[in-house]
Amino acid sequence: MTATAEPRPHAPFDRRSDGGEPVIVCDNLVRIYKTAELEAVALQGLDLVVDRGEMIAIVGASGSGKSTLLNILGGVDVPSAGEARVDGLDLLRLSGRERVRYRRRVVGFIWQQTARNLLPYLSALDNVELPMALDGRSAGDRRDRAVELLERVGLGDRLDHTPTRLSGGEQQRVAIAVAVANEPRVLLADEPTGELDSATAGEVIELLREINAERGLTMVIVTHDPLIAERVTRTVAIRDGRTSSEVLREDPFGAEAREFAVLDRTGRLQLPRDYLEALDLEHRVRLSLDPDHIKVWPDRERPNDG
Ligand code: ADP
Ligand code: MG
Repeated sequence: MTATAEPRPHAPFDRRSDGGEPVIVCDNLVRIYKTAELEAVALQGLDLVVDRGEMIAIVGASGSGKSTLLNILGGVDVPSAGEARVDGLDLLRLSGRERVRYRRRVVGFIWQQTARNLLPYLSALDNVELPMALDGRSAGDRRDRAVELLERVGLGDRLDHTPTRLSGGEQQRVAIAVAVANEPRVLLADEPTGELDSATAGEVIELLREINAERGLTMVIVTHDPLIAERVTRTVAIRDGRTSSEVLREDPFGAEAREFAVLDRTGRLQLPRDYLEALDLEHRVRLSLDPDHIKVWPDRERPNDG
């Protein structure tokens, strides 16, 4: 054994860090879409930190900003303000060329629409080889790796099938192989089981879990599917373009889950909507600090501490 570190076969950028820094850091992330006379604030100060090797679920109502977040992390959209770093790379400052390399090497993406993940006229094998070909890998090398990956996702007997000859679940398995082909640092999936029946969805999630565990590959999965949210150790809820709460599960298969509200760097906290409604809280509240907790009252009432 030598003490020399082996060169990383796929280190795309020199300046990225391998240290203890979380692989994803979003700080006060803002994305405003401007149309002719309208401004839509898709993200309004979103904070998110994901550690290496974590597999997290992102949940939230339709229109809450989940896809916007994922598109930013995937390098296909650019935030209006704030900070977004993935694997030490500043996503607000990548040049066009760096962005292409970022999408090719640092992140893998799986879309909900099975058809969007694969080229329809290419076989499963060619689909998996494509990102490696674009990245300049030799033909023999990428063929071996594509076969190996397709075997890993359980499709060793479907190498020559084009997407139309594969079921929805099989197509998403190929999509997983495509997404990990270039050994990305992060796998992003936007409702990857949205078009699948629940049994097939369960199998796809299980495969993602296995790959997460085997390779320590960090995963961020947007989902409506309670099955996914129950099988990851952390579920982050987005509300109105902000992370509002987190559910932590020590054992994804155990019943125990702890729910937290998210406190941002400036001390802002989103109260759960049912709490707001239960006490009719709006506009202003009274706060009072106790030795180990904080009390919140509606503005119209006087704190009654007895
Ligand atoms: P989700 O994925 O949680 O359903 P999105 O991130 O797609 O939410 O959208 C968040 C908000 O941003 C919505 O109000 C949506 O209408 C708006 N939005 C998203 N993309 C665009 C766009 N390209 N142009 C204008 N508004 C957009
Ligand atoms: Mg969406």
